[in-house]
Amino acid sequence: MIRKHKGFFWNGSWGRGEARSIKSSRGTGCDRNMGNRCVRECGRMMIAGRIAGNRQVMGNGRTTERRWTIEYHRTTGRRRIAVLTILSTFIVLCALLFSSCAGQSAVDGDGASLQADGGLSVHFLDVGQADCTLLVSAGEAMLVDAGNRDDSDFIISYLDELGIERLKYIVFTHPHEDHIGSGQAIIERFAVEKVFMLDEYDEGIGGQLKLAIEQKGIPAQAPMPEDTAQLGECSLAFLGPVRDYNDTNDDSICLMVRHGENSLLFTGDAGSAAERDMIEAGFDLEADLLQAGHHGSSASNSYYFLRSANPAYVVVSCGEGNMYGHPHEEALSRFNDLGAEVFRTDTQGTVIAVSNGAEIAFNVEGKKADKPYTAEPEEAAYIGNLNSKKYHLPTCGGLPKEENRVYFMSVDAAEKAGYEPCGNCNPQ
Ligand SMILES: [Zn+2]
Ligand SMILES: [Zn+2]
Repeated sequence: MIRKHKGFFWNGSWGRGEARSIKSSRGTGCDRNMGNRCVRECGRMMIAGRIAGNRQVMGNGRTTERRWTIEYHRTTGRRRIAVLTILSTFIVLCALLFSSCAGQSAVDGDGASLQADGGLSVHFLDVGQADCTLLVSAGEAMLVDAGNRDDSDFIISYLDELGIERLKYIVFTHPHEDHIGSGQAIIERFAVEKVFMLDEYDEGIGGQLKLAIEQKGIPAQAPMPEDTAQLGECSLAFLGPVRDYNDTNDDSICLMVRHGENSLLFTGDAGSAAERDMIEAGFDLEADLLQAGHHGSSASNSYYFLRSANPAYVVVSCGEGNMYGHPHEEALSRFNDLGAEVFRTDTQGTVIAVSNGAEIAFNVEGKKADKPYTAEPEEAAYIGNLNSKKYHLPTCGGLPKEENRVYFMSVDAAEKAGYEPCGNCNPQ
């Protein structure tokens, strides 16, 4: 059932290389415009949302213009009861954009009232092959990483659109350009209360950033594991790096954000060694949402780490057609094996997750891979046929063509993936 809301509503869509029509209305309800259409088409209700702009997206030498606006939907969580309460973001946006609107009560599609200043919204900005994540809760904002150098206009305009003037924190996970590139521009443009960074910012772009932070007199802290901080309604717990590594990626600051029952895990570009150390340190790594480590690299997102985190949602921040091949197929297979819903900035643009403390909702639809996780060909005990869904012994005379094969380590794995034994070779 569609309920009417009072306040500001924005209906639109986002796409690539083309402008889509955008409607906005004030004081009308979701039962009009796009809201109605959406309910008919996908059963989801658009509640509110308004972020729009224009940007250049660089991908592997290509530049495309992307016009974007973002729509918020009600959607269904995998592990949780169907809910998508974007209301919290709506209200946060309202509070930020239209202070006169703050305090108006709103009711979501399931009838749950939310606090006027409640919620957490997490914006995984589409900064191409880089990371930049904005978190907003109860009027307080922070950034985890700052994209590439070329992303500063986009990041700054995105924050401007949300009416953000002050950042309580910026976490620079590690001094690679794709994580700190626009850091200096952001620091010069916004009031920043505190920066979390380690001590390796001595040269190049890292050195310039460090200087800018010092010149503005912004306190910088190198967080230790188990240090904590507070953002709006959220608690932040630093988890890593657990020790010193030789590899800058492994030295990434890792962070757990908790909002009500929800937890969100950020690990920068930390690789599997750093992931293992966090497990061995005994941290509670269970997370509803994981930002895929190292842009979805197979050298991060290790099985044992994913089992510990066991996320329902994984968001991959990477660039379209990037030269590293991120996200790697192996990592996607592992996410798939967890049954996690995967969101990708390279194919979906900016991904927004909103927590009301109980559920997490998204502005775009997550995907589960359509292929089951499979073993490596050389270690496989059984070979499945993607088309017939039969599995065979490697010695079977009726093996499928290479491109239609999936590989399984055990009968169990094959059957779990919905495959049936071949009647000729009788694999057991
Ligand atoms: Zn990176
Ligand atoms: Zn890195």
